Amino acid sequence: MTATVGRPGMSSASSVARRDGSRRRVAIVGSTGSIGTQALEVLRSASGRFVVSALGAARSVDLLAAQAEEFRPEVVAIADGSLEMRLAELLPPGIELRAGPEALSSLAETCDVVLNAVVGFAGLGVTVAALRQGRRLALANKESLVAGAPVVQRARAAAGAELVPVDSEHGAIHQCLACGQPEAVSRVVLTASGGPFRGMSSADLASVTVADALAHPTWQMGPKITIDSSTLMNKGLEVIEAHELFDIGYDRIEVVVHPQSIVHSMVEFSDGATIAQLSVPDMRLPIGYALGYPERLTHPYGSLDFATLGRLEFELPDFATFPCLRLAYEAGRVGGSAPAWLNAANEVAVAAFLDGHLPWSAIAEVVAETLEVHEPTDLAQVQDVLEADALARARAASAVERRSRAA
Ligand code: MG
Repeated sequence: MTATVGRPGMSSASSVARRDGSRRRVAIVGSTGSIGTQALEVLRSASGRFVVSALGAARSVDLLAAQAEEFRPEVVAIADGSLEMRLAELLPPGIELRAGPEALSSLAETCDVVLNAVVGFAGLGVTVAALRQGRRLALANKESLVAGAPVVQRARAAAGAELVPVDSEHGAIHQCLACGQPEAVSRVVLTASGGPFRGMSSADLASVTVADALAHPTWQMGPKITIDSSTLMNKGLEVIEAHELFDIGYDRIEVVVHPQSIVHSMVEFSDGATIAQLSVPDMRLPIGYALGYPERLTHPYGSLDFATLGRLEFELPDFATFPCLRLAYEAGRVGGSAPAWLNAANEVAVAAFLDGHLPWSAIAEVVAETLEVHEPTDLAQVQDVLEADALARARAASAVERRSRAA
């Protein structure tokens, strides 16, 4: 069964299944981060079905070398070219080493499936390269799809290209959509944990610290996405991601807060049936789904215990206290370069918050101010996306600086 919804690349479900029975070749890009290391755990226990053809990371040479020692890929890549010599000393013999800004994108040529687990907008090149080369893109890097949507959608039309989301909500929607026809989808309901600050007022939130924002109640994730979860910007980016992945209008994408993070999202069909996907909140499950689809892997973890589960609660999100969610809907509806500006401003503001230069509550203010001066541009090429991103970053950096000077 395939989940075909109006976008190229969704229907070629069996394109990566190897007819000769050989193992599916996987490149893990961003292998040293939270998603990358969990993906390697999945691959370690499913080594009969997959082979790791390539590993790539931005800067973490020691962990990357240790992973290469264990998985013995054909190629290893490091984005920071200054670390090439150090990595060369650590790598076992017989592995090709690539270094520099294009090294990560080049890994698409080694495999059937590219898992893009790069953090943030820096993942754009990997997303575009994987699709243009007709690979399955297992996408954990939502920022590249959000910011570069016009370019990424064109790349999706390449022969053989297929985009399977790793994001747990979108993996859930992908599974729910298989239960009905695309034209019978009446709405998509994205669930949100609500993050560590659910139920708090703006006054409570005025003095929260980096440690408070990094303490996510249900998911273990990297720092950038954890901060995005605390502001609900992560859910905002996911609304845009759902629109782009499944070609569903913004009026039919709703967000509901579900603190237990057991229902990962839902699709309601025209006959009133709502299909939900449930599992424990463990990223290894959506990672395994995206790598194995349309086949199901077998994990020793992940089974739900309904005896101890207790209640599943749902409530509406607080758009007033968490303005990032509203800002994302607005940028998504404007389309074009607006989501690239939203994403760039958010990355600048989150980095400033993590560095202690910006209070938590000012993250949304910096994003809002940046979107107010958005200069719409046509995103026809990757270069256009890079330019829009750079312009938005400059505007957001000035907004951060004005605040530091005033403080
Ligand atoms: Mg998610």
